[in-house]
Amino acid sequence: MSRRKKIYEGKAKILYEGPEPGTIVQYFKDDATAFNGEKHATLEGKGVLNNRISEHIMLGLQRIGIPTHFIKRLNMREQLIRQCEIIPLEIVVRNVAAGSISKRLGIEEGQPLPRPIVEYYFKKDELGDPMISEEHINAFGWAAPHEMDEMVTTALRVNDFLSGLFTGAGIRLVDFKLEFGRVFDGEMQRVILADEISPDSCRLWDMESNEKLDKDRFRRDLGNVTEAYAEVARRLGIMRQNNVVAVANDEGTS
Ligand code: UDP
Repeated sequence: MSRRKKIYEGKAKILYEGPEPGTIVQYFKDDATAFNGEKHATLEGKGVLNNRISEHIMLGLQRIGIPTHFIKRLNMREQLIRQCEIIPLEIVVRNVAAGSISKRLGIEEGQPLPRPIVEYYFKKDELGDPMISEEHINAFGWAAPHEMDEMVTTALRVNDFLSGLFTGAGIRLVDFKLEFGRVFDGEMQRVILADEISPDSCRLWDMESNEKLDKDRFRRDLGNVTEAYAEVARRLGIMRQNNVVAVANDEGTS
């Protein structure tokens, strides 16, 4: 790792300079944080699982024509990604009430929403990522109106794709968070999907039992966090067996 220049270290990932200009190496840590960093733990194997799950999802999205920053997985914990200028927004899509919408609007967790709801949050740790409206985004110029159109359309396409993918695995996609970045393709500037899509950024419930298979296991002290992530990977066909070691052992054969 020391051979590479660290560009940025976040709560769950580290970014290193990539081998070619315009590329970055995204390293998945085992660290988990919640409540704006107040709660912290190391969950052995989480980074390996998120690297694989996010790769699987990004490749699936690329296959249906959604541009993403993902280039290729390098090893157990790292993937090569396209450098982009991260737009300081979190785009959340919800299908079922849970978490902050339940608290804010008094809707019981588990209540299906009448239609997918798209929300925006300003990416600012110091402020605890406050919820914002399109008015704020326009007024402060955080994203241009055509970029907003692109992000919302893409977020809804991602929702359709992921809902189908997870339904096939016996999992309900409750909600998820996306981040986007700007890239230049010749003269053209456009937005692409960035960051990761994993049980850290999605709420995933078992279709039958409603058991949580996502980061809420950590936020709410439910235990067996990595086991739940491994179960998601297993059901998506990423892992042959239901254990983290299988992911590690897979490396030589994939
Ligand atoms: N989320 C995320 N990062 C954040 C905030 C939310 O990945 O900084 C995800 C979260 O895992 C969930 C969805 O976005 O899948 C909606 O989160 P919510 O607004 O309910 O916030 P929370 O209850 O997680 O604080």
